[in-house]
Amino acid sequence: MSETLEIGIIAEGPTDILVIKEIVENLISDQYEFTCTSIQPKCSAVFEQLNTELGTGWSGVCRCLLEMKKQSNGKFDQHIGIKRLNLLIIHLDVDVTRQSYKDGHLRNIDNNLPCPSIQCPLPLRQRNQCPSDCDIPRQRANAIRQVVLNWLDNCTPQNLVFCTPSQAMDAWVFAAFFPDDIRIRQNKLECVERPERLLKSKPKQKRIEKTVTDYRKKIVGSYCNLWSNVRQNCSEAERFSQEFLKVLNTVET
Ligand SMILES: [Zn+2]
Repeated sequence: MSETLEIGIIAEGPTDILVIKEIVENLISDQYEFTCTSIQPKCSAVFEQLNTELGTGWSGVCRCLLEMKKQSNGKFDQHIGIKRLNLLIIHLDVDVTRQSYKDGHLRNIDNNLPCPSIQCPLPLRQRNQCPSDCDIPRQRANAIRQVVLNWLDNCTPQNLVFCTPSQAMDAWVFAAFFPDDIRIRQNKLECVERPERLLKSKPKQKRIEKTVTDYRKKIVGSYCNLWSNVRQNCSEAERFSQEFLKVLNTVET
């Protein structure tokens, strides 16, 4: 292929962007040349009309999408910046299903957050022994995808790929670096609430701090080779890989 693929990413935070770029690197391998542009949180030249004060986190993603929808007269898929992309990734952690618009300081939005509670059927004390076939993560991921589709009035481009880690991107980081951890072998990692605590529980020399500096040092350049560990232990990671590759196959450069 002579041309370079343009991939746009709308994500919750700068560390998420670094992880997603590594995943893309793994999935595309040397099939294509590509560039990843972070539309949110950071704005690139093409998207310069965007308000850069959108903040980060899920509410930053929401504000970015609503702003772009407004710029394109309600048709997000017709946005000039979106149309020039070969592939668009929208990332939201599935724990956003528990948030409310008030938490995100957002108003005038259909009241579809928090999502109707999708609860683990296990008694509270056994929640950390969720079996590997538990489908609560999938149900929650589907719920948050539907919320995004509502934000955009279902006007999404064909080349959109959702990235919905359960319950948060920290689980995907943990699965990559610590595939032999007993907590992964005993239960479903995607059901662990606040997976950042798993990362924090590691000894200091192995720990990955959630900062751009630490991610640049420990994630960039090595994470892409560990992606198969994540695909094995996180069903949403496998789903993202398959959906990404499916769209990639339809891309024309
Ligand atoms: Zn579960």
